[in-house]
Amino acid sequence: MNDEKKQALEAEVYSYVGKPIGPRVIGRDPVNLAMIRQWCDAMGDTHPAYLDEEEAKQTIHGGIVAPPTMLQAWIMDGFEMAKGYDEPQNEQQRLHKLLADNGYSGVLGTNTEENYTRYLKLGETVESSTVIDSISEEKATGVGIGYFITTKTSFENQDGDDLGSMSFRVLRYKPAEERPSAASGGSEDAVAAKPTRIKSPMGRDNGWWWSRVSEEDCLPIQRCADCAKLRHPPRPMCDDCGSQKWDSIKASGRATIHTFTVIHYPQFPGYEYPIVSIIVDLEEGERMASALVDCKPEDCKIGMPVELVIQEDEDGFKIPFFRPAD
Ligand SMILES: [Zn+2]
Repeated sequence: MNDEKKQALEAEVYSYVGKPIGPRVIGRDPVNLAMIRQWCDAMGDTHPAYLDEEEAKQTIHGGIVAPPTMLQAWIMDGFEMAKGYDEPQNEQQRLHKLLADNGYSGVLGTNTEENYTRYLKLGETVESSTVIDSISEEKATGVGIGYFITTKTSFENQDGDDLGSMSFRVLRYKPAEERPSAASGGSEDAVAAKPTRIKSPMGRDNGWWWSRVSEEDCLPIQRCADCAKLRHPPRPMCDDCGSQKWDSIKASGRATIHTFTVIHYPQFPGYEYPIVSIIVDLEEGERMASALVDCKPEDCKIGMPVELVIQEDEDGFKIPFFRPAD
């Protein structure tokens, strides 16, 4: 997408901010025991205030009430919602279709926040109105570039009594693997480089460590220049004597696996899965996080001896890993 097209798309996207998504929604059924019962069955909630008329009378509610977390359920459209966005029925669906039609085909719910003003009683009708509250600038995320869209919904009963509110955020994104590549004949401005590993932040306290890994193909360990205590990860001060003077040594590269976990998901571009993520005890006594290579996940064992191997990514980035020791 060229700059002009992108600007036009964003102008249209941001025109949705502040818009109500459609007319006020009126719950299809008043608050009723059958739906409460099904919700409680699904959630494993057996509180008598929700289910038992006699016992509920003895509570501060004076009768059956609905679980507060059901608030949104009362205004849901049911199976209508499964139809998707091909023929958008409201502004929210039109916004999603606009982005989907422009390559942002992925959608992920990222967070929701609900506020409950009070318990609902049997026979009340829930009504809601929803506004597109905000749309972020385009963000680069682990799953691809996209926009975070936040909607805000307020809930009232048939008399206009405040029942609560909900804020709901989704990420609408261009899945990373669908980005055009040179090989698939994408135009020049659309060519995306093959993603590489995410780099550690490299600041004043740890930048030197990564430089030394890269320049000397070694695993450095920081050492207090006053008391000679080793420390990892790198930090400005010795936690033993308080000295801020330090130098570093080269680790032997021999270590044993202290613990490990095998990562299958979520999968980020630039990595090969599964990843055997390990914590090793270095021969020098320090502990560090790394990954095990040249080893099947099922062969990884706690206490296993491993040795250092420096790997270089296609972009020249070097990183210390471990492999089983002979
Ligand atoms: Zn010290």
